[in-house]
Amino acid sequence: MSSTYLPAGLARRTDSLTSSAIRDLLSLTARDDVISLAGGLPATDLIPVDRIAAAAEAALRRPDAVQYCETSGHRTLRSVIAARESAVRGGVPVPVESVIVTHGSQQALTLLAQALIDPGAVVVVDEPAYTGALQVFSIAEASIESIPLTFTGMDTDELELRLTAGLRPAVVHTVANFHNPRGVTMSEQRRRHLAALADHYGFWVIEDDPYGEIWFGTTESGVDAPPAPIARHSDRVIRLSSASKILAPTLRVGWFVAPPSVCAAVELLKQGADLCGSSLTQSMTAEMLADSAWLDAHLTVLRREYACRATALIAALAAQFGDRLVVSRPAGGMFAWATFLDGTDTGQLLDAALEHGVAFVPGTAFASGAQYRHSLRLSYAGSTPPVLADAVQRLAAAHSAGSAA
Ligand code: PMP
Repeated sequence: MSSTYLPAGLARRTDSLTSSAIRDLLSLTARDDVISLAGGLPATDLIPVDRIAAAAEAALRRPDAVQYCETSGHRTLRSVIAARESAVRGGVPVPVESVIVTHGSQQALTLLAQALIDPGAVVVVDEPAYTGALQVFSIAEASIESIPLTFTGMDTDELELRLTAGLRPAVVHTVANFHNPRGVTMSEQRRRHLAALADHYGFWVIEDDPYGEIWFGTTESGVDAPPAPIARHSDRVIRLSSASKILAPTLRVGWFVAPPSVCAAVELLKQGADLCGSSLTQSMTAEMLADSAWLDAHLTVLRREYACRATALIAALAAQFGDRLVVSRPAGGMFAWATFLDGTDTGQLLDAALEHGVAFVPGTAFASGAQYRHSLRLSYAGSTPPVLADAVQRLAAAHSAGSAA
């Protein structure tokens, strides 16, 4: 047998497969005695199950909701998304044909990587980066380059310097709103700058935006909704979003808006991947997203509750750790990012934390190299303020136990 065959009979591409640290952690934290601030799960108690049940009941009576649908997605949902996208872009028309519905936005990332990235092609990511994107780009055998985040999003000045020095990315991926894990939002100026660089150098921008609707405006500047999307400023931007964080992850409905050539390529890849998504959950999602009076009221509740949870977490961390821990001030999304100034290694702290019944994600999970050993991501979304206070007390006990050892 040729030596090109792997002993286990697996394809070479599987060599680069590593499990997401966060997925691994999620299985550890499924224990009842652990309060998990680790996963990027939206609050289960705020998932609108009654509205979802009503949408399911109505959808099941429609023949089109129980059949295969077009690969590009259920047409009604695509029109609803196109109209919402147009509104977010200040009224710029968004044709239905430019919307493709996927199995969560994670599938959009996978299919876009297949469509846009040849092995060895350069992909630029935020530093720190969304782990799910790192996983997809490494499976695509991309050469991953990181550009640091600033408090106003990806450092586009640094990106420009690297481009001037010869860096030629096929794709730049960024989470511009309420970054996962860092929490920051890209400024209007940087959005325009990134779009201009994409036009000039001819790369694609993947604007990955599952959190943009969850704004609650507790920033110093008092800003509420984030600035207009990067996609408003260039046709080289592919904008991804999802129903996971605003309705429910179980719907597995995500989407992207892109120019025709990208949509056509992804549609063919998706035909091969799954023929089509679920007409049932896409039809239900269409109904819920189109019910604007209900959706606005639901989003208001989500924003108010997440603001309350974020404030409770930050206050508890400040009370327990004082100035040994620098904590971000989330203005939206689901995460706080914290960095120990006392040399604590958060990978080691995690072991003690699990023993004390609390989980978080160590900063190294978001690094392409060995950075962020002293940082951690904490999700406030899934726990009420008293539970968050309990979780932080457990974390402080784990930290003291580690310092005493
Ligand atoms: N992008 C980002 C930045 C995320 O944080 C997530 C989920 N945590 C996703 C994409 C994928 O979400 P989904 O597939 O549920 O839409």
